[in-house]
Amino acid sequence: MPRRMLIAGNWKMHGLRADLGFFDSLAAPAARSNAEVLICPPATLLAAAAERCAGTDILLGGQDCHTNATGAHTGDVSAPMLKDAGARYVILGHSERRSDHAESSELVCAKADAALAAGLTPIICVGETLEQREAGEAFDVVGAQLSASLPAGAGTEFVIAYEPVWAIGTGLTASADDVARMHAFIRTRLSKPASTRVIYGGSVKPGNAAELMALDDVDGALVGGASLDIDAFAAIIATAG
Ligand code: PEP
Repeated sequence: MPRRMLIAGNWKMHGLRADLGFFDSLAAPAARSNAEVLICPPATLLAAAAERCAGTDILLGGQDCHTNATGAHTGDVSAPMLKDAGARYVILGHSERRSDHAESSELVCAKADAALAAGLTPIICVGETLEQREAGEAFDVVGAQLSASLPAGAGTEFVIAYEPVWAIGTGLTASADDVARMHAFIRTRLSKPASTRVIYGGSVKPGNAAELMALDDVDGALVGGASLDIDAFAAIIATAG
C-alpha cells in the first residue's frame, strides 16, 4: 500500500482562541488534498480546535507528552489527556524539546511508548546540528538518535520527522540531495521501511515544498513558521497532491 503523505503544522507556543478561525479556512484545502492534514496547536487549544474541526478532514496533535498517564508532574500533559482533548498524533523529540528541556533519545522512546499506549501516533523528530553536519557526523548522529528513540515491538505505528536543527526556523533548507540521501538512510534503519512515513521539516515554505515533496523517500512535511499562515500552509498542502 502506498504511504499517504502527511502535512503537519507545528504551531509551537503560538495560538489563542481568537486564532481558531484558521481551522475554518483550512477545512477546504484539507478536504481537497489526498494528504493527511494535521495541526499540532498548543495543548491549551486542543479541545476547542477539536470542536472547531468536527466534521472536517483536519487532524490534530500534541507537541509533547509525559511518559506517565497520570501523576504528580506539575505542568506536564499526558498522552491520554491529549487523546481525550482530540489529538490523534503527538510530536516527540522536537529539537526545541531536546535543547530547551535536555530531552534524551531514551526519554523520547519512553514518551513514544506512552503515546502508543494511549492510541496516539508519535511523530519522532531526529536531526543533526550544523556543527555535526560540518564535521561529517550527520548520518552517525541521526542513526544514533533513531536507535535510541524508536519504540520497539511489532505493530507499532510511528512517523519519523527528519529535521536538521540548523534548518528549523532559520530560512535555511537542506538541499533536495541532502534530504534524499538522509531519508534513504533513515529508511534503511526502519523495521517496516515500506510502510513507515518519513517526513521532512526545516523551513518548508511554498517556494521549496514542491521540490522536497516530490522526492521518493519524502512522505510529507513538518511545518513550523509557515503553518501559522493559512495561505502558505494551504500552498504547501497543495504540493503534496
Ligand atoms: C518545526 O517547528 O518543526 C519546523 C520545521 O519549523 P520551521 O518550519 O519554522 O523551520
